[in-house]
Amino acid sequence: MSLLPTAAYIHIPFCRRRCYYCDFPVFVVGDRSTGANSGNIQLYVDRLATEIATEVNDPRPLDTIFFGGGTPSLLTVAQLRQIIGQLAAKFGIARDAEISMEIDPGTFDLEQLRGYLQAGVNRVSIGVQAFQDHLLQLCGRSHTVGDIYHAVELLHQGGVTNWSLDLISGLPQQTLANWEASLECAIALDPTHISCYDLIVEAQTPFSKQYHPGDKPLPSDEATAQMYRNAQQILSGAGYKHYEISNYAKPGYECRHNRTYWQNQPYYAFGMGAASNLENYRFTRPRKTQEYYQWVADGCNWRVDLTPAADRFLETLMLGLRLSSGVSLNAIESEFGIDRSDNLLKCLHRYQQQGWVEIVTIERDRYLRLSDPEGLLFSNVVLTEIFSQEF
Ligand code: SF4
Repeated sequence: MSLLPTAAYIHIPFCRRRCYYCDFPVFVVGDRSTGANSGNIQLYVDRLATEIATEVNDPRPLDTIFFGGGTPSLLTVAQLRQIIGQLAAKFGIARDAEISMEIDPGTFDLEQLRGYLQAGVNRVSIGVQAFQDHLLQLCGRSHTVGDIYHAVELLHQGGVTNWSLDLISGLPQQTLANWEASLECAIALDPTHISCYDLIVEAQTPFSKQYHPGDKPLPSDEATAQMYRNAQQILSGAGYKHYEISNYAKPGYECRHNRTYWQNQPYYAFGMGAASNLENYRFTRPRKTQEYYQWVADGCNWRVDLTPAADRFLETLMLGLRLSSGVSLNAIESEFGIDRSDNLLKCLHRYQQQGWVEIVTIERDRYLRLSDPEGLLFSNVVLTEIFSQEF
């Protein structure tokens, strides 16, 4: 693992309301127009800036920065500038750095968007989820389909050329026809990147009290599997490359920041609940606001209570097999030894015969990968097999 990260994730934990399926560490602030919680956001930004300033590693300029949440577009332009300015002062930012920001429909206007772009943002990811108002409502989303179209119009007016759109499959009451319509609507808007996530009913969410996996009105397992296959077929047909289990991109528009995770490279993370991967250790910051503030006040010591990364061999496979390019067997052999590599291939032989696992040669390197869509769809089966073995 290279020693010094060049990627930074920044968590902005504010949302207008909490979506019924969400278990992220977020703080509900209501509508920005009320201004009621703007003080909370500024307080948080100040703490975040302190945390960034406190990081003690010898820095390398950042290659990618990702503002996720939460709803980062609840930040004012001045607050975004404050954070980017602190990152630049602490680490430096590479001239061609990718700076991504998640934004939600209905939370920004053209002036604000232009301010974000001037501050350095050059990639935008817009949370859409579905193109049916009844599904958005059922999820507790704070926007309508009309807001989605308005937000995309603002992106065009602002001159944003690198942007992504998120969709969710497997929602309660969602039909295959709804899902295909959402995919077609997304394609018609012509984003450079589309993410398709399958709903997971997480414990402690309102959804978990209402819905039980496998029961109606959630779509059946066969229906959600078909949604996955449909996404692959429809998006690939429209020129989007299925480059990761849940992600599709036009050529040249894969998310550079997220590749850091999938390639098991180190990365910084700042903010409440954010998880970093440094010095082969993962550390998750406190998920509650006051605890996070106290942790910052106490000096941001992430070198206590460290959780070692799981076995790096297994972790490399778990993350790398998410990518359609798979993992390099030459790299596996040189880092973990030829025996482990051989045992891995033996363990996966039956999945290879079944067509879920492939070994391809590209420029004299052999890659182990999951087939698209079936291998990627059943990746959990393949990974469970890998994790059950001793290598
Ligand atoms: S907008 Fe995103 S982060 Fe906020 S509550 Fe909804 S799903 Fe969670």
